[in-house]
Amino acid sequence: MANQFDAIIIGGGHNGLTAAAYLAKAGRKVLVLERRGILGGCCITEETWPGYRVSTAAYVNSLMRPEIIRDLELKKHGFEMIPRSPSSFSPFPDGRFLMMGPDKELTHREIAKFSKKDAENYPKFEAMLTRVADFLEPLLDVTPPNPWGGIGDLFRLGKIGWNFRKLGRDLGGEALEILTGAATPILNRWFESEELKATIATDAVIGAFASPSMPGTAYVLFHHVMGECNGVRGVWGYVRGGMGKLSESIASAARSYGAEIRNDAEVANIITKDGKAVGVALKDGTEFRAAKVASCADANVTFRKLLNESDLPAEFLDAVKRIDYSSATVKINVALSEPPQFSCLPGNGIGPQHHGTMHICPTVDYIERAYEDAKHGRPAANPMLECTMATALDNSLAPPGKHIMSMFVQYAPYTLTGTTWEAEKDKFADRCFDILNEYAPNFKASVIARQVIPPPEMERLWGITGGNIMQGSMSMSSMFSVRPVAGFANYRTPIRGLYLCGAAAHPGGGVMGAAGRNAAREMLRDG
Ligand SMILES: Cc1cc2nc3c(=O)[nH]c(=O)nc-3n(C[C@H](O)[C@H](O)[C@H](O)COP(=O)(O)OP(=O)(O)OC[C@H]3O[C@@H](n4cnc5c(N)ncnc54)[C@H](O)[C@@H]3O)c2cc1C
Repeated sequence: MANQFDAIIIGGGHNGLTAAAYLAKAGRKVLVLERRGILGGCCITEETWPGYRVSTAAYVNSLMRPEIIRDLELKKHGFEMIPRSPSSFSPFPDGRFLMMGPDKELTHREIAKFSKKDAENYPKFEAMLTRVADFLEPLLDVTPPNPWGGIGDLFRLGKIGWNFRKLGRDLGGEALEILTGAATPILNRWFESEELKATIATDAVIGAFASPSMPGTAYVLFHHVMGECNGVRGVWGYVRGGMGKLSESIASAARSYGAEIRNDAEVANIITKDGKAVGVALKDGTEFRAAKVASCADANVTFRKLLNESDLPAEFLDAVKRIDYSSATVKINVALSEPPQFSCLPGNGIGPQHHGTMHICPTVDYIERAYEDAKHGRPAANPMLECTMATALDNSLAPPGKHIMSMFVQYAPYTLTGTTWEAEKDKFADRCFDILNEYAPNFKASVIARQVIPPPEMERLWGITGGNIMQGSMSMSSMFSVRPVAGFANYRTPIRGLYLCGAAAHPGGGVMGAAGRNAAREMLRDG
């Protein structure tokens, strides 16, 4: 019975590992099968160049659910957060700069350089978001009710409606706008300084193939103010040792409860019998049996690659085919001989400007124009750059004195018009480097090595369809009760005994662990 388990998890992403840990903790015999040689999916750290430990995909954390950190005792298993302060630095072409958060006095002083009115309004804006977060954040940990389900579902929907009512009319309206609206009108209402709006707008579009004037981006913005770092709300931090340390800590917790985890174990198909999942077969033909199978791979991979489409109801399959996997993100990881020295803040070595995200995005219109290029199949001529250098706060990642920069770049589509990524990849990276060099003239000369990952490469490396970093768009039409598709947001699928436990399910993308924990709870509820 060596190949017989209570539960099999397909994919050792951080969510799959979280599900495995909770199931094993509850006494289930669990097997995790990960196709790659490394655990963590998009939450990984790899020695890309000798001595340089690069968080190849995800690079900052705040969303990881504090309950999971506590339940699984992740700190005992090596997880440690390093808060970033300041968290944001935006240099501008006119030689000025804006530094922000989480220090409230610094933020006030800095915004006041651009607009006194905005400096007064900013804490009110944050307070509004925090009150909406008080309503929305607990929803990350619940199984979404099915509006087309039974009385229990309707009761749970009613409870959410009741809590929404408690927000009051004013805040309720703001909450709905945040859930469904565009970021630009909200920012225009609150602020006058272009520099502040551009800096905040970067958070509204991160990872989305959308511009800040498009509906749905307000929620992306909001998604980035939720979460916490070491108990402090809205603060993003680095994981000491890189993002992979978080996944490793979850894997270590799972193993401590008895879960078995195998790498280089690609699942070729899910075995079904009479409409029920009964196990999986690996590419090499090895079969494992279990009463329950959960997939941390995205919905497209799970339902269209690992199952026979004929096993699924046609309307379900149609809904899966409609999931939006568009992507406009390129990740560039860079090894540096020295930190970038910005003309607007001259100095040597590490300064506060290097602690957080260095935004290269002078105006909101700059983002709109970059988006327009990608919409027409071109990598943006002037892309928005989100640069982070975790080595500013963590000296365990690179040889002494050396640094790693993560550039999260938008926009550049998966499919290019009239050309290919092979032809464009290096040209695009060169353009990104030229842009950063305009602000930090030592940058290009400091580059030791680089790794450029456009959307098709993300798909190949991490198995994410279309290179979509969230396992499917995070717009309201694909969230909560309709994630991954309407009627199947409770982690169960049309195949009995088959569950989704990754970012494809509620609450979606981001390093949160919530999908894994919620799915495990539902699996345990089913016996
Ligand atoms: C470039 C990039 C930057 C990001 N930046 C951030 C960030 O800074 N902060 C943040 O919070 N989020 C970020 N995200 C999003 C976040 O990383 C993901 O949403 C999250 O890691 C998803 O985790 P998951 O466990 O649900 O799925 P995944 O990480 O996608 O894991 C799925 C796993 O399943 C495996 N798999 C797939 N098919 C099979 C198969 N047939 N057999 C076996 N295994 C299989 C894959 O190899 C993978 O390991 C980023 C994502 C990307 C791509």
